[in-house]
Amino acid sequence: MITDKIFFWMLPVMYGVFTAVFVTLARSDSGASSAKKGAAAFGMGMLAIILDTQRHLFPDWFFTMAVPLHWLVLWYMADAFLVRHGDRVPVKPVVALFSVGLAINLAATFIIDSVAIRVPNTSIIAIAILALALPRFFAHREKQLDNITGFVVAMCWLSYVARFAFYFMLDQSGEYARTSQWSQYMMIFYFTSAIFALSLAFLLVMAITSDMVARHFAAATVDPLTGVANRRGFERMLDRVQGELPFQSVLMVDLDHFKRVNDTHGHGIGDGILVAVSQTLITCCKGLGEVVRFGGEEFVILLRTCEGAAVQQLAELLRSAVAATRLDAPHDGLHCTASIGAAIVERHEDINDAIRRADRALYRAKENGRNRVVFAPEHESASNPVAAISA
Ligand code: GH3
Ligand code: MG
Ligand code: MG
Repeated sequence: MITDKIFFWMLPVMYGVFTAVFVTLARSDSGASSAKKGAAAFGMGMLAIILDTQRHLFPDWFFTMAVPLHWLVLWYMADAFLVRHGDRVPVKPVVALFSVGLAINLAATFIIDSVAIRVPNTSIIAIAILALALPRFFAHREKQLDNITGFVVAMCWLSYVARFAFYFMLDQSGEYARTSQWSQYMMIFYFTSAIFALSLAFLLVMAITSDMVARHFAAATVDPLTGVANRRGFERMLDRVQGELPFQSVLMVDLDHFKRVNDTHGHGIGDGILVAVSQTLITCCKGLGEVVRFGGEEFVILLRTCEGAAVQQLAELLRSAVAATRLDAPHDGLHCTASIGAAIVERHEDINDAIRRADRALYRAKENGRNRVVFAPEHESASNPVAAISA
Protein backbone atom coordinates (compact mmCIF):
# COMPACT_ATOMS: atom_id res chain seq x y z
CA MET A 1 0.00 0.00 0.00
CA ILE A 2 1.32 3.44 -0.89
CA THR A 3 0.36 4.78 2.58
CA ASP A 4 2.49 2.10 4.26
CA LYS A 5 5.44 3.12 2.15
CA ILE A 6 5.00 6.78 3.00
CA PHE A 7 4.61 5.94 6.69
CA PHE A 8 7.73 3.79 6.79
CA TRP A 9 9.81 6.46 5.05
CA MET A 10 8.36 9.17 7.25
CA LEU A 11 9.76 7.49 10.37
CA PRO A 12 13.46 7.50 9.42
CA VAL A 13 13.08 11.07 8.17
CA MET A 14 11.63 12.06 11.55
CA TYR A 15 14.44 10.22 13.38
CA GLY A 16 16.93 11.93 11.07
CA VAL A 17 15.55 15.36 11.93
CA PHE A 18 15.84 14.58 15.64
CA THR A 19 19.40 13.31 15.14
CA ALA A 20 20.25 16.64 13.52
CA VAL A 21 18.55 18.54 16.38
CA PHE A 22 20.56 16.66 19.03
CA VAL A 23 23.82 17.00 17.08
CA THR A 24 23.18 20.77 16.94
CA LEU A 25 22.42 20.87 20.68
CA ALA A 26 25.56 18.84 21.47
CA ARG A 27 27.68 21.22 19.40
CA SER A 28 26.21 24.36 20.94
CA ASP A 29 26.88 23.11 24.46
CA SER A 30 29.98 20.98 24.92
CA GLY A 31 28.81 19.78 28.34
CA ALA A 32 25.61 18.26 26.98
CA SER A 33 26.29 14.51 27.03
CA SER A 34 22.50 14.06 26.97
CA ALA A 35 22.43 15.61 23.51
CA LYS A 36 25.26 13.34 22.29
CA LYS A 37 23.48 10.23 23.54
CA GLY A 38 20.18 11.48 22.10
CA ALA A 39 21.87 12.01 18.71
CA ALA A 40 23.33 8.48 18.85
CA ALA A 41 19.94 6.98 19.84
CA PHE A 42 18.01 8.68 17.04
CA GLY A 43 20.78 8.07 14.50
CA MET A 44 20.74 4.33 15.28
CA GLY A 45 16.94 4.37 15.35
CA MET A 46 16.89 5.83 11.84
CA LEU A 47 19.24 3.12 10.60
CA ALA A 48 17.26 0.35 12.33
CA ILE A 49 13.99 1.44 10.72
CA ILE A 50 15.55 1.69 7.26
CA LEU A 51 17.13 -1.77 7.64
CA ASP A 52 13.89 -3.29 8.83
CA THR A 53 11.27 -1.62 6.65
CA GLN A 54 13.33 -1.41 3.47
CA ARG A 55 14.65 -4.95 3.79
CA HIS A 56 14.10 -5.57 0.05
CA LEU A 57 16.96 -3.15 -0.63
CA PHE A 58 19.52 -5.21 1.34
CA PRO A 59 20.90 -8.76 1.33
CA ASP A 60 18.49 -11.20 2.92
CA TRP A 61 19.98 -11.45 6.39
CA PHE A 62 20.86 -7.76 6.72
CA PHE A 63 17.58 -6.66 8.27
CA THR A 64 18.18 -8.73 11.41
CA MET A 65 20.83 -6.17 12.38
CA ALA A 66 17.90 -3.84 13.04
CA VAL A 67 17.22 -5.82 16.21
CA PRO A 68 20.48 -5.15 18.13
CA LEU A 69 20.30 -1.54 16.89
CA HIS A 70 16.81 -1.32 18.36
CA TRP A 71 18.15 -2.43 21.80
CA LEU A 72 21.00 0.07 21.54
CA VAL A 73 18.43 2.81 20.83
CA LEU A 74 16.57 2.00 24.07
CA TRP A 75 19.83 1.86 26.04
CA TYR A 76 21.17 5.17 24.70
CA MET A 77 17.80 6.85 25.00
CA ALA A 78 17.52 5.90 28.68
CA ASP A 79 21.12 7.01 29.29
CA ALA A 80 20.45 10.35 27.54
CA PHE A 81 17.95 11.19 30.30
CA LEU A 82 19.78 9.52 33.19
CA VAL A 83 23.14 11.17 32.47
CA ARG A 84 21.53 14.51 33.43
CA HIS A 85 21.38 13.14 36.98
CA GLY A 86 24.89 11.66 36.84
CA ASP A 87 23.40 8.17 36.45
CA ARG A 88 23.16 5.53 33.72
CA VAL A 89 21.56 2.17 33.01
CA PRO A 90 23.74 -0.46 34.76
CA VAL A 91 26.27 -1.43 32.08
CA LYS A 92 27.10 -5.04 32.96
CA PRO A 93 23.51 -6.39 32.99
CA VAL A 94 22.71 -4.53 29.75
CA VAL A 95 25.81 -5.89 28.03
CA ALA A 96 24.91 -9.39 29.25
CA LEU A 97 21.31 -9.05 27.96
CA PHE A 98 22.55 -7.60 24.70
CA SER A 99 25.03 -10.44 24.16
CA VAL A 100 22.54 -13.21 24.96
CA GLY A 101 19.86 -11.53 22.82
CA LEU A 102 22.28 -11.07 19.93
CA ALA A 103 23.42 -14.71 20.09
CA ILE A 104 19.79 -15.92 20.01
CA ASN A 105 18.98 -13.49 17.21
CA LEU A 106 21.92 -14.67 15.09
CA ALA A 107 21.10 -18.34 15.79
CA ALA A 108 17.44 -17.74 14.88
CA THR A 109 18.54 -16.11 11.62
CA PHE A 110 21.44 -18.23 10.39
CA ILE A 111 20.99 -21.61 12.05
CA ILE A 112 17.29 -22.32 12.34
CA ASP A 113 15.79 -19.24 10.63
CA SER A 114 12.85 -18.87 13.00
CA VAL A 115 10.69 -15.75 13.18
CA ALA A 116 8.87 -17.43 16.08
CA ILE A 117 12.08 -17.10 18.12
CA ARG A 118 13.37 -13.82 16.69
CA VAL A 119 10.32 -11.68 17.41
CA PRO A 120 9.75 -12.70 21.08
CA ASN A 121 13.52 -12.49 21.65
CA THR A 122 13.48 -8.88 20.38
CA SER A 123 10.65 -7.97 22.75
CA ILE A 124 11.99 -9.78 25.83
CA ILE A 125 15.42 -8.12 25.61
CA ALA A 126 13.80 -4.70 25.02
CA ILE A 127 11.48 -5.23 28.01
CA ALA A 128 14.45 -6.27 30.19
CA ILE A 129 16.60 -3.26 29.16
CA LEU A 130 13.74 -0.87 29.95
CA ALA A 131 13.07 -2.71 33.23
CA LEU A 132 16.70 -2.02 34.24
CA ALA A 133 16.34 1.66 33.36
CA LEU A 134 12.89 2.35 34.78
CA PRO A 135 13.66 2.35 38.55
CA ARG A 136 16.45 4.87 37.89
CA PHE A 137 13.97 7.26 36.28
CA PHE A 138 11.85 7.11 39.41
CA ALA A 139 14.88 7.60 41.64
CA HIS A 140 15.59 10.98 40.01
CA ARG A 141 12.39 12.95 40.19
CA GLU A 142 13.57 16.48 40.88
CA LYS A 143 11.25 18.40 38.60
CA GLN A 144 7.88 17.99 36.93
CA LEU A 145 9.71 17.18 33.69
CA ASP A 146 11.33 14.16 35.41
CA ASN A 147 7.89 12.91 36.49
CA ILE A 148 6.52 13.20 32.95
CA THR A 149 9.60 11.47 31.51
CA GLY A 150 9.34 8.65 34.07
CA PHE A 151 5.67 8.23 33.16
CA VAL A 152 6.39 8.12 29.39
CA VAL A 153 9.21 5.57 29.88
CA ALA A 154 6.89 3.45 32.07
CA MET A 155 4.23 3.61 29.32
CA CYS A 156 6.87 2.70 26.77
CA TRP A 157 7.82 -0.35 28.85
CA LEU A 158 4.13 -1.31 29.18
CA SER A 159 3.66 -0.95 25.43
CA TYR A 160 6.44 -3.47 24.86
CA VAL A 161 4.77 -5.86 27.28
CA ALA A 162 1.37 -5.30 25.62
CA ARG A 163 2.81 -5.73 22.13
CA PHE A 164 4.50 -8.92 23.22
CA ALA A 165 1.13 -10.27 24.43
CA PHE A 166 -0.59 -8.96 21.30
CA TYR A 167 1.91 -10.76 19.10
CA PHE A 168 0.75 -14.10 20.47
CA MET A 169 -2.92 -13.13 20.55
CA LEU A 170 -2.84 -12.27 16.86
CA ASP A 171 -0.96 -15.47 16.15
CA GLN A 172 1.54 -13.46 14.18
CA SER A 173 4.25 -15.99 14.71
CA GLY A 174 5.37 -18.36 12.03
CA GLU A 175 4.89 -18.05 8.33
CA TYR A 176 2.51 -15.08 8.34
CA ALA A 177 4.99 -12.69 9.99
CA ARG A 178 7.78 -13.91 7.74
CA THR A 179 5.93 -13.15 4.53
CA SER A 180 3.90 -10.14 5.54
CA GLN A 181 6.14 -7.49 7.01
CA TRP A 182 3.31 -4.97 6.92
CA SER A 183 1.33 -7.19 9.22
CA GLN A 184 -0.86 -5.71 11.91
CA TYR A 185 1.85 -6.42 14.44
CA MET A 186 4.44 -4.45 12.51
CA MET A 187 2.06 -1.53 12.00
CA ILE A 188 1.27 -1.43 15.73
CA PHE A 189 4.97 -1.76 16.54
CA TYR A 190 6.02 1.15 14.34
CA PHE A 191 3.04 3.32 15.21
CA THR A 192 3.62 3.05 18.98
CA SER A 193 7.39 3.41 18.47
CA ALA A 194 6.79 6.62 16.54
CA ILE A 195 4.58 8.03 19.30
CA PHE A 196 7.12 7.20 22.02
CA ALA A 197 10.06 8.43 19.94
CA LEU A 198 8.28 11.71 19.32
CA SER A 199 7.35 12.16 23.01
CA LEU A 200 10.83 11.23 24.25
CA ALA A 201 12.52 13.48 21.68
CA PHE A 202 10.43 16.46 22.83
CA LEU A 203 11.07 15.64 26.49
CA LEU A 204 14.81 15.31 25.86
CA VAL A 205 14.95 18.61 23.97
CA MET A 206 13.09 20.24 26.87
CA ALA A 207 15.36 18.61 29.46
CA ILE A 208 18.55 19.66 27.64
CA THR A 209 17.40 23.24 27.09
CA SER A 210 16.12 23.59 30.66
CA ASP A 211 19.50 22.26 31.94
CA MET A 212 21.26 24.84 29.76
CA VAL A 213 19.08 27.65 31.11
CA ALA A 214 19.61 26.44 34.70
CA ARG A 215 23.40 26.27 34.17
CA HIS A 216 23.54 29.76 32.69
CA PHE A 217 21.27 31.09 35.39
CA ALA A 218 23.44 29.52 38.11
CA ALA A 219 26.54 31.03 36.47
CA ALA A 220 24.84 34.42 36.47
CA THR A 221 24.06 34.20 40.19
CA VAL A 222 27.55 33.19 41.35
CA ASP A 223 30.59 35.44 41.49
CA PRO A 224 33.20 33.78 39.24
CA LEU A 225 36.19 34.95 41.31
CA THR A 226 35.16 33.86 44.79
CA GLY A 227 32.41 31.32 44.05
CA VAL A 228 29.99 32.98 46.49
CA ALA A 229 26.60 34.36 45.46
CA ASN A 230 26.58 37.71 43.71
CA ARG A 231 23.87 40.35 43.91
CA ARG A 232 21.60 38.46 41.54
CA GLY A 233 22.18 35.36 43.66
CA PHE A 234 21.17 37.44 46.66
CA GLU A 235 17.83 38.33 45.01
CA ARG A 236 17.30 34.65 44.25
CA MET A 237 18.08 33.67 47.85
CA LEU A 238 15.45 36.10 49.07
CA ASP A 239 12.90 34.59 46.66
CA ARG A 240 13.79 31.10 47.84
CA VAL A 241 13.44 31.78 51.57
CA GLN A 242 10.01 33.35 51.22
CA GLY A 243 7.69 31.41 53.47
CA GLU A 244 10.59 29.73 55.27
CA LEU A 245 12.41 31.14 58.25
CA PRO A 246 13.63 34.43 56.73
CA PHE A 247 17.01 36.01 57.33
CA GLN A 248 16.80 37.88 60.61
CA SER A 249 20.05 39.81 60.75
CA VAL A 250 22.64 41.12 58.34
CA LEU A 251 26.34 41.89 58.45
CA MET A 252 28.00 44.22 56.00
CA VAL A 253 31.70 43.35 55.68
CA ASP A 254 34.11 45.69 53.88
CA LEU A 255 37.86 45.13 53.56
CA ASP A 256 40.00 47.94 54.93
CA HIS A 257 42.26 50.00 52.68
CA PHE A 258 41.87 47.48 49.91
CA LYS A 259 42.75 49.99 47.23
CA ARG A 260 46.10 50.33 48.94
CA VAL A 261 46.60 46.51 48.80
CA ASN A 262 45.96 46.61 45.05
CA ASP A 263 48.19 49.63 44.52
CA THR A 264 51.06 48.14 46.55
CA HIS A 265 50.94 44.46 45.58
CA GLY A 266 48.99 44.40 42.33
CA HIS A 267 45.51 43.33 41.34
CA GLY A 268 46.41 39.62 41.22
CA ILE A 269 47.34 39.59 44.91
CA GLY A 270 44.20 41.63 45.63
CA ASP A 271 42.16 38.93 43.91
CA GLY A 272 43.94 36.25 45.94
CA ILE A 273 43.02 38.05 49.16
CA LEU A 274 39.39 38.33 48.06
CA VAL A 275 39.28 34.58 47.40
CA ALA A 276 40.93 33.75 50.74
CA VAL A 277 38.65 36.11 52.67
CA SER A 278 35.55 34.64 50.99
CA GLN A 279 36.64 31.17 52.06
CA THR A 280 37.12 32.40 55.62
CA LEU A 281 33.64 33.95 55.63
CA ILE A 282 32.04 30.81 54.18
CA THR A 283 33.77 28.59 56.74
CA CYS A 284 32.78 30.77 59.69
CA CYS A 285 29.16 31.14 58.52
CA LYS A 286 28.53 27.51 57.62
CA GLY A 287 25.08 26.51 58.82
CA LEU A 288 24.42 29.99 60.18
CA GLY A 289 23.76 32.01 57.07
CA GLU A 290 24.69 32.92 53.52
CA VAL A 291 27.62 34.91 52.17
CA VAL A 292 27.08 37.30 49.26
CA ARG A 293 29.68 39.34 47.39
CA PHE A 294 27.73 42.55 47.17
CA GLY A 295 30.29 44.58 45.29
CA GLY A 296 34.08 44.89 44.86
CA GLU A 297 35.50 44.12 48.33
CA GLU A 298 32.19 44.26 50.09
CA PHE A 299 30.30 41.22 51.40
CA VAL A 300 26.84 40.90 52.93
CA ILE A 301 26.17 38.06 55.32
CA LEU A 302 22.56 37.02 55.85
CA LEU A 303 21.98 35.28 59.17
CA ARG A 304 19.03 33.24 60.39
CA THR A 305 19.32 34.40 63.99
CA CYS A 306 18.01 37.60 65.57
CA GLU A 307 19.81 36.96 68.86
CA GLY A 308 21.87 40.13 69.42
CA ALA A 309 24.54 38.29 71.41
CA ALA A 310 24.93 35.55 68.78
CA VAL A 311 25.17 38.09 65.95
CA GLN A 312 27.70 40.08 67.92
CA GLN A 313 29.77 36.97 68.63
CA LEU A 314 29.77 35.87 65.00
CA ALA A 315 30.62 39.37 63.72
CA GLU A 316 33.57 39.50 66.09
CA LEU A 317 34.65 35.99 65.04
CA LEU A 318 34.53 37.06 61.39
CA ARG A 319 36.52 40.20 62.06
CA SER A 320 39.31 38.30 63.81
CA ALA A 321 39.22 35.43 61.28
CA VAL A 322 39.63 37.85 58.34
CA ALA A 323 42.53 39.56 60.13
CA ALA A 324 44.14 36.12 60.62
CA THR A 325 43.61 35.02 56.99
CA ARG A 326 46.86 34.51 55.10
CA LEU A 327 47.73 33.85 51.48
CA ASP A 328 49.95 30.94 50.50
CA ALA A 329 53.75 31.45 50.39
CA PRO A 330 55.46 33.57 49.17
CA HIS A 331 52.73 36.11 49.99
CA ASP A 332 51.96 34.64 53.41
CA GLY A 333 53.12 37.78 55.20
CA LEU A 334 50.30 39.74 53.62
CA HIS A 335 47.03 40.18 55.39
CA CYS A 336 44.13 42.52 55.52
CA THR A 337 41.43 43.54 57.96
CA ALA A 338 37.70 44.13 57.65
CA SER A 339 35.20 46.52 59.14
CA ILE A 340 31.73 45.19 59.85
CA GLY A 341 28.33 46.86 60.22
CA ALA A 342 25.63 44.71 61.84
CA ALA A 343 21.83 45.09 61.92
CA ILE A 344 19.01 42.94 63.27
CA VAL A 345 16.10 42.89 60.81
CA GLU A 346 13.16 44.45 62.63
CA ARG A 347 9.59 43.24 62.53
CA HIS A 348 7.98 44.16 59.20
CA GLU A 349 11.27 45.69 58.02
CA ASP A 350 12.39 45.03 54.44
CA ILE A 351 15.73 43.24 54.45
CA ASN A 352 17.14 45.89 52.08
CA ASP A 353 16.37 48.56 54.69
CA ALA A 354 18.23 46.50 57.30
CA ILE A 355 21.18 46.25 54.88
CA ARG A 356 21.13 50.05 54.49
CA ARG A 357 21.27 50.37 58.30
CA ALA A 358 24.15 47.88 58.45
CA ASP A 359 25.91 49.92 55.75
CA ARG A 360 25.60 53.08 57.82
CA ALA A 361 26.98 51.18 60.83
CA LEU A 362 29.86 50.02 58.62
CA TYR A 363 30.55 53.62 57.72
CA ARG A 364 30.82 54.34 61.47
CA ALA A 365 33.21 51.41 61.90
CA LYS A 366 35.42 52.93 59.19
CA GLU A 367 35.21 56.37 60.82
CA ASN A 368 36.09 54.91 64.21
CA GLY A 369 39.35 53.45 62.96
CA ARG A 370 38.46 50.27 60.90
CA ASN A 371 39.01 46.59 61.85
CA ARG A 372 35.98 46.73 64.12
CA VAL A 373 32.28 45.83 64.39
CA VAL A 374 29.52 48.40 64.86
CA PHE A 375 25.85 47.59 65.48
CA ALA A 376 23.17 49.65 63.78
CA PRO A 377 20.66 51.36 66.06
CA GLU A 378 17.17 49.86 66.04
CA HIS A 379 15.30 52.69 64.47
CA GLU A 380 15.89 54.51 61.26
CA SER A 381 15.57 57.81 63.06
CA ALA A 382 18.20 57.03 65.70
CA SER A 383 21.29 58.98 64.83
CA ASN A 384 24.15 57.12 66.51
CA PRO A 385 24.96 53.46 66.28
CA VAL A 386 25.66 51.77 69.55
CA ALA A 387 29.25 51.48 70.65
CA ALA A 388 31.73 49.50 68.63
CA ILE A 389 32.15 46.01 69.98
CA SER A 390 35.79 45.62 69.26
CA ALA A 391 38.89 47.29 67.95
P1 GH3 B 1 38.12 51.51 52.99
O1 GH3 B 1 38.91 50.96 54.13
O2 GH3 B 1 37.59 52.86 53.26
O3 GH3 B 1 37.07 50.57 52.58
O4 GH3 B 1 39.16 51.68 51.80
P2 GH3 B 1 39.21 50.86 50.46
O5 GH3 B 1 40.49 51.19 49.77
O6 GH3 B 1 38.95 49.43 50.71
O7 GH3 B 1 37.93 51.43 49.75
P3 GH3 B 1 37.57 51.78 48.28
O8 GH3 B 1 36.12 51.55 48.16
O9 GH3 B 1 38.09 53.17 47.97
O10 GH3 B 1 38.35 50.77 47.38
C1 GH3 B 1 37.90 49.52 47.13
C2 GH3 B 1 38.92 48.90 46.21
O11 GH3 B 1 38.58 47.53 45.95
C3 GH3 B 1 38.96 49.56 44.87
C4 GH3 B 1 39.10 48.45 43.88
O12 GH3 B 1 40.27 48.57 43.13
C5 GH3 B 1 39.17 47.21 44.73
N1 GH3 B 1 38.47 46.12 44.12
C6 GH3 B 1 37.14 46.02 43.85
N2 GH3 B 1 36.87 44.83 43.25
C7 GH3 B 1 38.06 44.17 43.14
C8 GH3 B 1 38.44 42.91 42.59
O13 GH3 B 1 37.61 42.13 42.10
N3 GH3 B 1 39.74 42.58 42.63
C9 GH3 B 1 40.68 43.40 43.17
N4 GH3 B 1 41.95 43.01 43.18
N5 GH3 B 1 40.34 44.60 43.68
C10 GH3 B 1 39.06 44.99 43.66
MG1 MG C 1 37.07 48.81 51.59
MG1 MG D 1 34.03 49.23 49.68
